Amino acid sequence: MELTFFYPNILAKLKKAYLKGNLPHYLLFLGPKWTGKEELALEIAKFLNCKNKEGCQSCDWCKRVEVKKPVEDLILVKKESQNSTFSLKEEITLKDIQPLQRALTLTPNYRFKIGIILRGDKLNQEAQNALLKTLEEPKGRKVIIMTGEIPSKILPTLQSRAIIFYLHPQPLKKIKAYLKNNFPQLQTSEIEEIAKISFGLPKLALKLAQEKETLQSYKKIFQLAENLIEGDTYVKLKIAQKLAQSSPPKIEKVFGVLQLYLGTKLKEAIFKGDFTQGLKIAESLEKINQFKSLAFNLRVNPQLCFENMALSL
Ligand SMILES: [Zn+2]
Repeated sequence: MELTFFYPNILAKLKKAYLKGNLPHYLLFLGPKWTGKEELALEIAKFLNCKNKEGCQSCDWCKRVEVKKPVEDLILVKKESQNSTFSLKEEITLKDIQPLQRALTLTPNYRFKIGIILRGDKLNQEAQNALLKTLEEPKGRKVIIMTGEIPSKILPTLQSRAIIFYLHPQPLKKIKAYLKNNFPQLQTSEIEEIAKISFGLPKLALKLAQEKETLQSYKKIFQLAENLIEGDTYVKLKIAQKLAQSSPPKIEKVFGVLQLYLGTKLKEAIFKGDFTQGLKIAESLEKINQFKSLAFNLRVNPQLCFENMALSL
């Protein structure tokens, strides 16, 4: 089920550098949510200390990394709630990265000490400055791999020191091939559907293929988002009413799907050279972002907010 299927070039390049002994000491994987940044980071952590030097998946080290078991030489910095919805204020503090800083000053038991920071764009200013200091120390046998979704939240000095790889949404053809290989029990129509509603995001496609319940609830959210954009006034207002009574996590999911939906349409319009349509979609995206911050403002009447949004799309 390895999501590295989507990034063979990045993996090959880093393996080659590693075998030649000139692996970069600080890697930064940037890209939208669900692209598989964490999985790629872990896959690299595997081959760095793999007994067979290739991420064999079967040696002691590879197995430990796979289950993310606390293991000597691998320090993972991750917010506790990272698997659920990220609230806007949450950040990774200096205290959170200190264990990583301390560990990196020690000699590795295997070949490398590896520090992985997930959502490095959530590091606060103090933590980013501290990390910068760590990067200035002698390199030795240590590697830091950081992931991030919003590049503008990462200090330029932290970016300029890194070897950066961008992970993009994938062509639907590739998503379908991946699903076909890994889930032979899925019908062609199911593969088509999952690929479409995954928006080319590998990790989302994997999750939808693995979890029947998630697929069912996600399909409903997708339908809701689609109707909110494509439906007639009556349908739009009905959905606005429904949204006003929904829980914040559900609302956040709907906003997420709306952004992906419009983002995909925007790409299609630009690809076709239809800039008038592209501009219209870009405006809708902008509105979605504005209404998203309004929707979570307690002083705003939710029904009014969603009705206005629905009618402006
Ligand atoms: Zn191995």
